[in-house]
Amino acid sequence: MAATSTCVHTTGTVATPNSATCEECGSGSALRVCTECGHVGCCESQLAHDTAHFEASGHPVIRSLPLSDDSFTWCYACANYV
Ligand SMILES: [Zn+2]
Ligand SMILES: [Zn+2]
Ligand SMILES: [Zn+2]
Repeated sequence: MAATSTCVHTTGTVATPNSATCEECGSGSALRVCTECGHVGCCESQLAHDTAHFEASGHPVIRSLPLSDDSFTWCYACANYV
């Protein structure tokens, strides 16, 4: 199942990031924002606080920071880019 257009979790909007750094460890690079609540966490190459937020909150959709046309959106529930 490699389809990228079937994600039912993304709304197309992105919450304003709560922080300029990871809310858990303070990392300032490779950050991901939760599109639902604005939680900011670091990526899997660091301490994976974005993944920890998904597991704790059930919010599956993240977007890469800084927000730009080059940002990507990832859905944990679908385990795919959306
Ligand atoms: Zn999804
Ligand atoms: Zn972190
Ligand atoms: Zn969230």
